[in-house]
Amino acid sequence: MPAQLIDGKALSAQVRAQVQADVQALQKAHGLTPGLAVVRVGDDPASVIYVRNKIKACHETGVLSFDNILPEATTQAELLALIDKLNADPRVHGILVQLPVPKHIDADAVIDRLAAQKDVDGFGPRNTYLLSAGRPGLRPCTPYGCIKLLESVDTKFAGAQALVVGRSNIVGKPMAMLLLERNCTVTIAHSRTPDLAAEVARADIVVAAVGKTEIVKGAWVKPGSVLIDVGINRQVGGKLKGDIEFAPAAEHARAITPVPGGVGPMTIAMLLANTVEAAKKSISG
Ligand code: NAP
Repeated sequence: MPAQLIDGKALSAQVRAQVQADVQALQKAHGLTPGLAVVRVGDDPASVIYVRNKIKACHETGVLSFDNILPEATTQAELLALIDKLNADPRVHGILVQLPVPKHIDADAVIDRLAAQKDVDGFGPRNTYLLSAGRPGLRPCTPYGCIKLLESVDTKFAGAQALVVGRSNIVGKPMAMLLLERNCTVTIAHSRTPDLAAEVARADIVVAAVGKTEIVKGAWVKPGSVLIDVGINRQVGGKLKGDIEFAPAAEHARAITPVPGGVGPMTIAMLLANTVEAAKKSISG
């Protein structure tokens, strides 16, 4: 495998160590401990695991976690009232509402209600606008983590052809904006893109966020490119695979993330980093 493996576990450990150091510095200088409120409604099995991991990561880095585990029958009005309470709570610097919420709740209304300065997932209207305007704001955690992974292998952004496969609001679109902000020439592919192979073949940077096992074939990959695989596809038997055909892609690429152990660990690390950033901002205004 000639490609360099981009180690998300190692990089996320570095980000977490920085978070821990920042927490201690904020406590010392300002008597302030960053706080993250995690909200989960119902018992979606994946959400139970994600929320557990997020709370554990808070404990490990010294970020205070305020856990709000609500029953499936929670009404929209009750959830919005909780968001209002958390928006007003000075101990809470970041609020994370784990998606998906149950079907009777309008997720957009919940996201829209979050105070922009506490929207550490970066999905709300204000942070979405700031990202598209190229202004500072809280960036969505998974794409932000992808940028850190690209930076870790000295990726040249300016003028590079970057391809984002997938256009979801939580990964694909913000990813494209972050690459554009770094002066890449960005293409976004989606389910109606007629020739994905041709798009991959001319890309210096590929970020795949589709959710279909090995949809990006190794033979398409441009020699010397950098590949970030966001996809998580559980196989029969439990093994995880990404959206990129790993072994043949690694024969052509300069660097590539594995699945698991690539993008996954970075998402929670960037959530903690955003919470610290929000806490710092609460002091400086
Ligand atoms: P999503 O909302 O389902 O979006 C998937 C995107 O893929 C859509 O834009 C869709 O196009 C596009 N697509 C589908 N078939 C395609 C094809 N044949 N060619 C090109 N594009 C195609 O998924 P998501 O939430 O962005 O997540 C994507 C993957 O990343 C999933 O495996 C998810 O589990 C994973 N993920 C991982 C993390 C992490 O922390 N590691 C975080 C978030 C997501 P249309 O818009 O045209 O339908």
